[in-house]
Amino acid sequence: MAAPPPALPQLDLELRNIRKRYGGYTAVDGVSLQVPKGQFVCLLGPSGCGKTTTLRCVAGLEEPDAGDILIGGREVTRDPPWERDIAMMFQDFALFPHMSVAKQVGFGLEMQKKPRAEIARRVGEVLTAFEIDHLAERRPAQLSGGQKQRVALARAMITEPRILLLDEPIGALDYSLRETVMLELKSLQRRSGISFIWVTHDQNEAFSLGDLVVVMNHARIEQQGKPEEVLSRPRTAFVAGFIQGNNILRGKAAGAEAGLLRVDAPDGLFSVPLRGRPAPPRGSEVSFSVRAERLLESPGPEIGNRLSLRCNVVEYFGAYRRHVLEAKSGALVKYDQFGALPQSVSPGHLVSFGWKTEDGVLHA
Ligand code: ATP
Repeated sequence: MAAPPPALPQLDLELRNIRKRYGGYTAVDGVSLQVPKGQFVCLLGPSGCGKTTTLRCVAGLEEPDAGDILIGGREVTRDPPWERDIAMMFQDFALFPHMSVAKQVGFGLEMQKKPRAEIARRVGEVLTAFEIDHLAERRPAQLSGGQKQRVALARAMITEPRILLLDEPIGALDYSLRETVMLELKSLQRRSGISFIWVTHDQNEAFSLGDLVVVMNHARIEQQGKPEEVLSRPRTAFVAGFIQGNNILRGKAAGAEAGLLRVDAPDGLFSVPLRGRPAPPRGSEVSFSVRAERLLESPGPEIGNRLSLRCNVVEYFGAYRRHVLEAKSGALVKYDQFGALPQSVSPGHLVSFGWKTEDGVLHA
């Protein structure tokens, strides 16, 4: 058998082909991930796709059935949570109800059996840093949601772990608080240099916070990459459909030429760039996506990809205006127009639309 690849010490976290089953159900299936130092990683996906199970395997709260977990280059697959150089923060914050804020925050250091004077000093520093020193003697029931969140975070970060694992950490906060908290957390992550592994089903969180976005579906990773990459080049139809603003068009491969695949779809014949990929066999089912803001209204003759669409609904979101349009085949297509522009398409209008060939993204 070949020797396993050497550990890469510059990685904060490495997952090698992790698998976890519950009875006959596979919750995580062949998940591999490399997290360089000090990264903000968002595990994104629909409910039940295996995000939390993956996080719990990293935390040592679940043992994978197969695969290896390395933290800071050290294999920890079967180590208990407290020997992993990690801390964890849950959605409900899991604060101890009868313990004062100062006690909770110092708890990790007490577990590490640090001297009392050191604990007192570091708790003082962390309470000040998180601007919760005035709450030191309160119990969780006497705190607001945002304050609880700070306490939970201070408690997690005081031991200066290599990795902080966060499971939907702002899901319980009021919508109005979330943006502020997100900005704070992002800047805290940058300053601390600790890698954050953040589980969420909210794509806005994932794309605004993540250095690396990992999209999961049915226990597997569908795509991982920088937010811009995942947004502009969804690898699969699932990713394109999961991310807001994509139109997915389906058809049959009808031959390739000069790096372009011809797709014979119910509403027309379209050209989609292959981007170095081999052309799918003629007649096979394919799909591709075009972002809603990339559609062009009444395109000029230089635009080859075109179809006529009837406008059903227009919704105004401030920054943009979304049109829901219908093709002859009944397929629905979204078109987003910059909100500051005057509205040019209204319900009932039949309008010709198109897109530049380079704006099409072929799916795997
Ligand atoms: P959510 O966003 O809803 O929390 P998730 O992506 O985090 O979803 P997981 O909690 O990882 O999903 O669950 C993945 C699958 O494994 C689900 O179908 C879930 O029902 C199942 N599962 C999780 N924990 C267990 C368990 N202890 N026993 C049996 N099945 C489990």
